[in-house]
Amino acid sequence: MPTTTNHASTIACTIIALLLASCIDSEKSSEHHGDTEVAHWGYEADNGPDAWASMDPAWSVCAEGREQSPIDISSATEIELPAIIINRPSERKFEVLNQAGVVNALDNGHTIQVNSKTGETIAIGDGIFALVQFHFHAPSEHTVDGKHFPMEMHFVHQADNGSLAVVGVLIEEGAANASIAPLWAQLSASPGTNATIDVSAEFSQHVFPDIGTGLHHYEGSLTTPPCSEGVKWYVRKTPTQLSREQIAAFTAIYDHNNRPVQALNGRMLYLDENPNVSIRN
Ligand SMILES: [Zn+2]
Repeated sequence: MPTTTNHASTIACTIIALLLASCIDSEKSSEHHGDTEVAHWGYEADNGPDAWASMDPAWSVCAEGREQSPIDISSATEIELPAIIINRPSERKFEVLNQAGVVNALDNGHTIQVNSKTGETIAIGDGIFALVQFHFHAPSEHTVDGKHFPMEMHFVHQADNGSLAVVGVLIEEGAANASIAPLWAQLSASPGTNATIDVSAEFSQHVFPDIGTGLHHYEGSLTTPPCSEGVKWYVRKTPTQLSREQIAAFTAIYDHNNRPVQALNGRMLYLDENPNVSIRN
């Protein structure tokens, strides 16, 4: 029984690793690997955050980096962030990548991820970043005064020069979020079928961060291998809500895909209580 299970899981892991290397851009995890098989990082004792740096020389910054993410959010310094302009095309559709052989719809082996081809951009100061993908962690990666939230969403944006800006939205348990239902309905879709999700205005309002409610900012990193630094983080102060059942639907698949908080190492954590955010459709 163990031998069979191990053999089957080895094959499954190999398939997933090949898919990851060739198909999926999971917080840029494949960028240093080209067509070679990526190490099978995860969140367990043998392949989790403490082991990442030793799994691949390209991931050494996971252990040696001084500006890593996530962090605990507390004692922020108040600032006025540059104006933020979110450009949202009126018709917004997200392609749901559902790779054959991967566990199920949206599942890249590390999280539930939706790749974006909407053309949505966010302009912050001199930088213009296009939304590349969004995904989920449970529990939250960032903590607030030492406390986790049940989940956290990350909206990964990339500029033409490759630099990254991630908008984080904490998720608390509360009212059911009807807007996320079309996405959550895909969690149990059959592998190998791709779908397109229509993103209604309501979805935008409730799920997407309009970030006009207070915004934390700091300089950090990817929270998954290769843990690259130089990532601009914007974590919304106000959480959004999902119901207990909606959270359970995610945690049935992933219940600990969070990296522990990292030391600030002298970095500044900022808070703009009333950011200047405008949305253009
Ligand atoms: Zn993330």
